[in-house]
Amino acid sequence: MILVKVGRNETPMIKRRRKTLVLLAALLLAIFYMQMQTAIPGIINDMDFDLDKKETPAITGLHPYVLKQKNELVRLTKQRGITIVITDGYRSHEEQTRIYNQGRTTEGDIVTNAKAGQSLHNYGLAIDFALKLEDGSVIWDMEYDGNGNGKSDWMEVVAIAKELGFEWGGDWDKFPDYPHLQMDFGLTIRELQRGKLPDADIHEYSEGAKSK
Ligand SMILES: [Zn+2]
Repeated sequence: MILVKVGRNETPMIKRRRKTLVLLAALLLAIFYMQMQTAIPGIINDMDFDLDKKETPAITGLHPYVLKQKNELVRLTKQRGITIVITDGYRSHEEQTRIYNQGRTTEGDIVTNAKAGQSLHNYGLAIDFALKLEDGSVIWDMEYDGNGNGKSDWMEVVAIAKELGFEWGGDWDKFPDYPHLQMDFGLTIRELQRGKLPDADIHEYSEGAKSK
């Protein structure tokens, strides 16, 4: 109703203004169309990337280098009189979802803030450790000094792990994760989620050599 009324009362000046508006709209549309054209190469690249992703074999275990360094950690800590157990390594998305739900939709305490795909465990790049005592019990005591050298066994393990190239979850400001050790090979979670994975034949890596 209102529009019809305005149309009937149009003065030449309003008509001119409307003409300008139509021209402006056309110009904006043209710019938008050009933007779309230039955006297309990016879209094509993303599609290529997804094709690459399909060729990547599914991850079902620890990355070979992480596995090797994990074994080294067990060996070197043993030499110091510390026995560790690796309580977790590769974790499937289903397993990650199950533990993410713990303390949220299922019973128990919250143990992780990482959803499926957000943890380096999901890419075979992280391990969790604990200390094992002679009686077979497993402890998460960071003060315990089983080898009696005046240093906390836990922190001795962490120091060796860092020398082996692991990043320690206990160093994180937000939600420190004390049993957690990982190697991201300079990749972000976002890159990992998009299917970018470290080469399987990496045989040397240290935190300092990160390309990030
Ligand atoms: Zn962990």
